[in-house]
Amino acid sequence: SKVMAKSKYEYVRTFEMEDKCLQNCWIVVRLDGRSFHRFTSSHKFEKPNDKRALELMNRSAVAVMEELQDVSLAYGQSDEYSFVLRKDTNMYNRRQSKIMSAINSIFSASYVHYWSSYFKNIKLLYPPSFDARTVLYPSDQNLRDYLSWRQADTHINNLYNTAFWGLVLMKGLSNNEAEKILCGTVSSEKNEILFKECGTNYNNELPIYRKGTVLVRKLIRIPSSKSKKHVVCPLHVDIIGDDFWKEHDEILNL
Ligand code: ATP
Ligand code: ATP
Ligand code: MG
Ligand code: MG
Ligand code: MG
Ligand code: MG
Ligand code: MG
Repeated sequence: SKVMAKSKYEYVRTFEMEDKCLQNCWIVVRLDGRSFHRFTSSHKFEKPNDKRALELMNRSAVAVMEELQDVSLAYGQSDEYSFVLRKDTNMYNRRQSKIMSAINSIFSASYVHYWSSYFKNIKLLYPPSFDARTVLYPSDQNLRDYLSWRQADTHINNLYNTAFWGLVLMKGLSNNEAEKILCGTVSSEKNEILFKECGTNYNNELPIYRKGTVLVRKLIRIPSSKSKKHVVCPLHVDIIGDDFWKEHDEILNL
């Protein structure tokens, strides 16, 4: 406070680290659940995908975007969420520790706050927590490649997990047997195993599982009114190809 500002202790401030994010770069903050392997099993998440958990992650990410207007897009899958800040943002004077810790805190607190709306009959047994990192991307292509990387990861993991749990839950194989069958298989082989052994067509799995969730801001007409309002919309679509970026061209063209 102002009273303390002139004290002889004030010099300790000079020990603070300079951590201003480089100008003109996209700022990406990615959170990831800490030990969620344990957290998901303690809280009896459905395998391979617990939809309530994904929706709680999405709700928490919406809370971040509602609180921090300079977050222009977010992408989530599994226990992770990436937040993209406008490259011209001046939030916290671009100090990375301030930005990253604020995002992590809003997200983590929201996850606990909204837990009971999604897990109605499951008590939260201990406080979940998330780690976070910040990465700067100097070009639009770098940013798109980053998001493509995360969505490709969603696809690889979800195809594997769907096949694995299909063999375990539907065919009654042990975890070891399922692992052996899938070991060294390529995507087309996993698709085939799923179809032949479990009668599951992977393409019919829910888009939220196959594609993850991308949150974008859209200008929406309010019914029975002439005014418009920005709302955060969840989409479960491909973000690797050009179509998404053409349809939402306001994201890259500030
Ligand atoms: P910023 O986001 O910049 O930190 P702020 O509103 O949090 O803004 P601070 O300088 O951190 O500003 O001040 C914290 C405020 O919270 C002060 O007004 C302080 O009096 C109030 N506050 C914090 N803890 C208590 C408490 N235990 N009892 C009463 N008031 C409190
Ligand atoms: P770390 O602390 O290193 O991140 P972790 O145990 O969280 O360790 P991750 O690689 O992040 O490891 O994996 C997340 C785990 O949570 C995986 O086992 C994944 O299957 C599980 N998980 C995350 N979300 C869901 C969900 N919606 N439904 C079922 N399982 C989930
Ligand atoms: Mg404060
Ligand atoms: Mg304070
Ligand atoms: Mg991690
Ligand atoms: Mg994790
Ligand atoms: Mg993870």
